[in-house]
Formats: sequence, structure tokens, C-alpha cells
Amino acid sequence: MSGMPVGENVGSVGHRRPMIKVRCPICEREMPGQQEAWPDYPFCSPRCRKIDLGRWLGEQYGVGTPPDEEPEPDAAERDPSDD
Ligand SMILES: [Zn+2]
Repeated sequence: MSGMPVGENVGSVGHRRPMIKVRCPICEREMPGQQEAWPDYPFCSPRCRKIDLGRWLGEQYGVGTPPDEEPEPDAAERDPSDD
């Protein structure tokens, strides 16, 4: 029987460091250090935070939000004797 050793394929797990590399989701700038060092986490700066918020709001307004104040075209017939 020819079989490949499946299951014991652990690979070389030698340098497993709990290093979390965080990048700003907006500008993809690396944010080294602790989270506490970044008051605008997960964004690198208040600017990126604003951009993200803008995107979010843009999506909210952009993607089919039903206007709750739609002026109903009232079919008001004009009086023919308006002359
Ligand atoms: Zn950023």
C-alpha cells in the first residue's frame, strides 16, 4: 500500500511568535506597538477613522435606502374651468 503520511504534516513550527501585525484598514499603514498606543485603533489616525466613517455612511446612503419621505405624486386633476 502506498500512502502519504497525512496528518503528521505539522511543518516547521519553530519560530511561532505571538506577534500581531496590525495595519490600518484605510491606508494600510503598519501600526506597531500596543493597541493603547493608538487612540484611534484600529485606525492609525483620526483622519483614517473619519474616512472609514465616511465610507460607512456613504454606503448607508448609497445602497438603496428607501426614502421615508417620498412625496407622493398626488394626481390632482386641474379644474378644466380654470379659465
Ligand atoms: Zn491609516
